[in-house]
This record gives sequence, C-alpha cells and structure tokens, in this order.
Amino acid sequence: MNIRGLQKTSLLDFPGGICATLFVGGCNLRCRYCHNKDLVLNHTALPYYPPHEIITFLQKRSSLLDGVCISGGEPTLRGVETMLPFLTAVKNVGLKVKLDTNGTRPAVVGKLIQAGVLDYIAVDIKGPWEKYPLITGVDIDPGTVKETVALLKGCASRQEFRTTVVPGLLTAADLLWIAKEIEGCPKYVLQQYRPPAAPIDPAFSAGQPFSHEKIRQVAETCRQYVHVLELRGF
Ligand code: SF4
Repeated sequence: MNIRGLQKTSLLDFPGGICATLFVGGCNLRCRYCHNKDLVLNHTALPYYPPHEIITFLQKRSSLLDGVCISGGEPTLRGVETMLPFLTAVKNVGLKVKLDTNGTRPAVVGKLIQAGVLDYIAVDIKGPWEKYPLITGVDIDPGTVKETVALLKGCASRQEFRTTVVPGLLTAADLLWIAKEIEGCPKYVLQQYRPPAAPIDPAFSAGQPFSHEKIRQVAETCRQYVHVLELRGF
C-alpha cells in the first residue's frame, strides 16, 4: 500500500466519526498549491508502515475508532489488486473506510465500490475541466475525473465532492461552474486555502485567500445545485 504516514486519531477526516488517517505515498498530479510535497515527490524517503502492522494497530485501537481514512498522495495508484485485500482487512477489523481521491482512476474506484469496501468517498474537483493542466501541473485528461463524477451518481456510498478555493487559480465563476457540473450530488465542500510553507510551486506559499464574505456569496449561488453545500475552514 506504500503507507508513508499515519495520524492515529482524527476528528476531521471522517464526517461524523473518529478515524485514523493513512497517507499513501505517490501521486500522478503535481497541484501547484499541494501541501503534501514530500508525500508526492519524495515518499520513498519517508517512514514506511507495513500493511500488516497497520492492521495490528487498528485491531488494538478499534474500540476507539469509527473508521479509517485512506488519503494521499493518491491511494488509487496502488491498484485494485493491492487496495482490495488491504481495505477488506480493515473492514474485517470492524471499521468503516473512507477514500480520499483525486478521481483520476475511475476504474479502481468503480471496482472498490462494487466490492463493497468503501463507506465514504471524497473526490477532489480541482477546477473547471479546461483548467486541470494549469492547476494540477500535469497534462492530465480531466475526462477521467468526469467519469468518476458519473460513477458516483449511481453509487449508494456516502460521498462528497470538494474544491480547495485557491486564489489566483479559481474564480467565483469557476466554483459555480463546478457546482453545476456536479448538480444533484449529496454534498459539495468548499475548502479554505491555507498557503503551505513549501508547496510544489513556491509561488503558492503566499496569497490572499477568499474572504469569509466572498465565499459566503459564492456558496449562496452554488447551493441551489447540490443537496448540501459545506464551507470548511472558512
Ligand atoms: S493536492 Fe494534488 S498533487 Fe497533492 S496529493 Fe492531492 S492530488 Fe496529489
């Protein structure tokens, strides 16, 4: 699984529950504002947590936890063959599983949904499709993320789409465009951007985040397209 980070307890990463968060090394994107630079570019230098040790840890801790959040990096790069046995082992401990993904591996997400190992799926929508290369720093086909959006429309797992509101990359009009694109989804989360100390692109270590007032106005325009609109960190 290439687990390169462990947060033993989180009150934030699993909506409505207490979870442990696992950070999987490696990512196929290079988002310019990414605050997990080492996990993306230098993960082999980070501590490694063997999956069997993580399962033992979860067994000991299971009475204190509701679930496990599998985050990254991008966990789906590990593939179904690696993820399915691990997530099945987590479920066998009696814990729920939340997957954080950038949505670029719809086939993997689809197979994990089919296998019934995902209780909650959080998908990043980085921006309007045509802005993906600019925001993610790679020549990615946003059609894959679009496929993941379509996949989740027919899926019973709890789910959310979320966008980090990065000044200089996203406008109010962009956020409205995204809300329309995911129209009818159960939850859309607008996350406040906090300039990281050492992002992938140093230009994003500073910047004036959207004000509370501005994001509230944006939220009002987006709210009509989704069931729940949540502001996180504002
Ligand atoms: S912010 Fe972008 S580069 Fe960083 S881990 Fe997430 S998807 Fe990968």
